[in-house]
Amino acid sequence: MNHTIFFVSSLLVAFQVICSGTNHNITKDYENQIKRRRFQDLPPFKAPVIGPCVKHPENCNLSPILKAEIVSYRPAVETIVREVLDGESKGRAYKELGKFVDLFGARVSGSKALEDSIDYMLDQMKQNGLQNVHGEEVVVPHYVRGEERAELLTPRRKHLTLLGLDPSVGTPAQGIEADVLVVTSFEDLKAKAKQAKGKIIVFNQDWQGSYKTTAIYRIRGAIEAATVGGIATLIRSITDFSLNTPHTGGMTYEALIPEIPAACITVEDAELLYRLQESGEKLRISFKMSIYKLPATTSRNVFGEITGNEKPNELVGLSGHIDSWDVGQGALDDAGGTQISVEALYLLKRLGLTTHRTLQAILWTSEEAAAVGVGVADYVKRHDKELANFSAVFESDSGTFNATGLDFAGSEEAG
Ligand SMILES: [Zn+2]
Repeated sequence: MNHTIFFVSSLLVAFQVICSGTNHNITKDYENQIKRRRFQDLPPFKAPVIGPCVKHPENCNLSPILKAEIVSYRPAVETIVREVLDGESKGRAYKELGKFVDLFGARVSGSKALEDSIDYMLDQMKQNGLQNVHGEEVVVPHYVRGEERAELLTPRRKHLTLLGLDPSVGTPAQGIEADVLVVTSFEDLKAKAKQAKGKIIVFNQDWQGSYKTTAIYRIRGAIEAATVGGIATLIRSITDFSLNTPHTGGMTYEALIPEIPAACITVEDAELLYRLQESGEKLRISFKMSIYKLPATTSRNVFGEITGNEKPNELVGLSGHIDSWDVGQGALDDAGGTQISVEALYLLKRLGLTTHRTLQAILWTSEEAAAVGVGVADYVKRHDKELANFSAVFESDSGTFNATGLDFAGSEEAG
């Protein structure tokens, strides 16, 4: 994983040269607003990390001057790759990431752990010689998960492991007890709509090939269930691998459709409920979930930079979100993204490499639970006039896995 992290970091140096357009779409819903395309594929693990435009500039649709400039970065890129794969920096990002998540664990919006982790990162940025290190205050929601439990009552009693979704409503204080309808898809639910009224709707959808395509059941499950008269919904966790582990996440409601409580249950339990129903059993479940509504608190977006030596007012952002959900370590979502952002800058500092533009590491706050991009939205509002200073912004929030490429969003010219 340490190598993976630096594969991405190394690429950043090359990538900033290529991106000359401005990209204002740094909020999470950019995926829906503008087309995306696979920008470039990286070579296999351990191969020299040099993008195709450096390796084969003749294939790039760029001006000769720009091609020559890209080629001129080859020595710097090779120095970075050598340092990461075989130098003193080998394994550093992964080790630092491990230390970070061990020290702070889950860092949910509004928590002390989140603010402590922000203090730590500010300190780390200063210690590693970044400039203009500062936090910018943001008012954020304070998320605290309430009581959550569910039990299968008939045909036998069984505890159901679950995690409430955000921003689900809670159940009435005494909970809900109702018959159950298990469906395998939205189409299946429509076909069985007449049986749904007054029931707890369980979605036992198959894995749809990717997280993104499967997550639609978590996102729209409560809407679809309520539309046909369901009074609550339990959704199979969005994962293709489970050891009886439920997975939480965001969901939505729709105007004029009743807001019903929604939680994710495990893959194993969803399959069990489906099998029982299909074998002719009548299912009944009790379900109780409470939501705490706490006053908003103050958090911080975090910044640190290496000032550019030719175009200091032009920025290249490297970012991830420092907060996480409450029930995991938030290692991949998204301490990994924040760590590669800062480590790329620390590495350049250690190697004494400079850049034309200012490289700015940005650690967004309050992106996940109860939030959906509060930190980044605040930044966009507050820095509206400065957004045009960005030549490119990197955002890592899909897990710090083996790098296979970059998703690019922006104008044709920037692409
Ligand atoms: Zn995330």
